[in-house]
Amino acid sequence: MTSGDAAEPGDVPRPAFGDDIESVLIDGPQIQARLRELAAQITDDYAGERLLLVGVLKGAFMVMADLARYLELPVEVDFMAVSSYGSSTKTSGVVRILKDLERDIAGRHILVVEDIVDSGLTLKYLLRNLAARGPKSLEVLALLAKPSSARPELRVRYQGFEVPDVFVVGYGLDYAERYRNLDCIATLAPAVYSS
Ligand code: 5GP
Repeated sequence: MTSGDAAEPGDVPRPAFGDDIESVLIDGPQIQARLRELAAQITDDYAGERLLLVGVLKGAFMVMADLARYLELPVEVDFMAVSSYGSSTKTSGVVRILKDLERDIAGRHILVVEDIVDSGLTLKYLLRNLAARGPKSLEVLALLAKPSSARPELRVRYQGFEVPDVFVVGYGLDYAERYRNLDCIATLAPAVYSS
């Protein structure tokens, strides 16, 4: 790219991760195209309303940043940080709030922005917790969902992609805090887990 060209988020150079990446499931430009589609839908759905985006840290930081830029709405943003107890690649459903919202959400339109829904236990906990605060509406955008999460009570209104039931990294998602800065969704080589 020559200097002066408009940079697309999907064009950022991929950091050198050596042989750690096994395969790229969804590339950067595919993610950006899908986020633009979802943003257009959300822009229509919330026309004339005040929307508060609630990003779930840390995994949703990239999708929040890109989605917010594609929305043609005057949104506000806030973040929650949660930690799920479990092994390094599976959650147990026991969720602890590490950082709560900075404001009252009673009477507000809330869109929770999640990275990935796997068992759905984290989202179920979050929705119950947020619903108890009396928002005017409460919807969810999840960039990714695994087949095991296809349960009607989870109410994911805006879904980016379905991924197979494998552990994925990139675009905000980590393994042992690494790989979050990949611009794509990828699987890791088995050797990474044994090192
Ligand atoms: P759930 O409670 O739905 O089983 O898991 C949700 C959380 O577990 C996600 O927000 C994410 O932090 C983590 N998680 C679930 N599946 C994956 C995955 O394939 N890769 C990574 N990096 N994190 C995952």
